Amino acid sequence: MLARTPPSGLSAILVERDRPGLTIEPLPETMGCKGGQHGLLTFDDVRVPAVNLIGSEGDGEEHLERALEISRVFIAASSLGTAQRALDIALAHAKARVTFGKPLAERQAVQRYLAEMAMDVYALRHMLLDAARKWDAGQRIPLEASLCKLFGLEAVGRVTDRALLVQGGIGYTRRTPVERLYRDARLNWLEEGPPTVHYLVAARELAHGYAWDDAFG
Ligand SMILES: Cc1cc2nc3c(=O)[nH]c(=O)nc-3n(C[C@H](O)[C@H](O)[C@H](O)COP(=O)(O)OP(=O)(O)OC[C@H]3O[C@@H](n4cnc5c(N)ncnc54)[C@H](O)[C@@H]3O)c2cc1C
Repeated sequence: MLARTPPSGLSAILVERDRPGLTIEPLPETMGCKGGQHGLLTFDDVRVPAVNLIGSEGDGEEHLERALEISRVFIAASSLGTAQRALDIALAHAKARVTFGKPLAERQAVQRYLAEMAMDVYALRHMLLDAARKWDAGQRIPLEASLCKLFGLEAVGRVTDRALLVQGGIGYTRRTPVERLYRDARLNWLEEGPPTVHYLVAARELAHGYAWDDAFG
């Protein structure tokens, strides 16, 4: 957790889940991503030993910014995985399903869906590779992380929509995993900040002179 530790600012502190004063109230059942556990944490006069301090007192904001930056890239990577799977399923279905004598994959209108899905997957993969390469080289990537997260949630939204369209009525049933991918993808809107936060972060970095020219290096 992050706690205010005046006068030094914010500090990152490890709190074991069985500490007296910490209560975890489970959240109601979610629309998707049912494998995860989410709860509302309440801290009431929780005491921890000094050894539970992560890093140094007052450097919590630095920890938070770094953790969020790479975590936003992870959320975008999860968007990519979901989008790729939705594309694979839609493509297999389009090749196998025959209507009026021809597979769906040979219908121009369905081809457009498939090409648009592939375009999103391809663009997101390359944005992520760029961000990950810079992070691995030790760079801070606040702008790239927010752009990946934003583009990722929009891309996986479009791709899972189109996968449903390609599958027709069967995609709306639980016979195929597409309805689950569609629901799971909607959590990517929220995790590590909703879109409005990322518009703000991205625009702020640009306005503050982010080294955009170097960003392509
Ligand atoms: C199942 C689940 C798992 C989650 N897991 C994580 C996780 O792992 N990590 C994590 O960080 N978060 C996680 N979250 C929380 C998520 O980050 C928040 O739900 C999200 O940030 C939105 O905050 P909120 O729910 O309080 O909505 P609110 O803050 O009430 O926002 C509601 C709407 O108003 C907009 N809004 C709110 N304040 C502003 C503002 N100041 N300026 C502009 N627009 C604004 C938001 O964009 C949103 O559209 C999870 C949420 C859920 C449901």
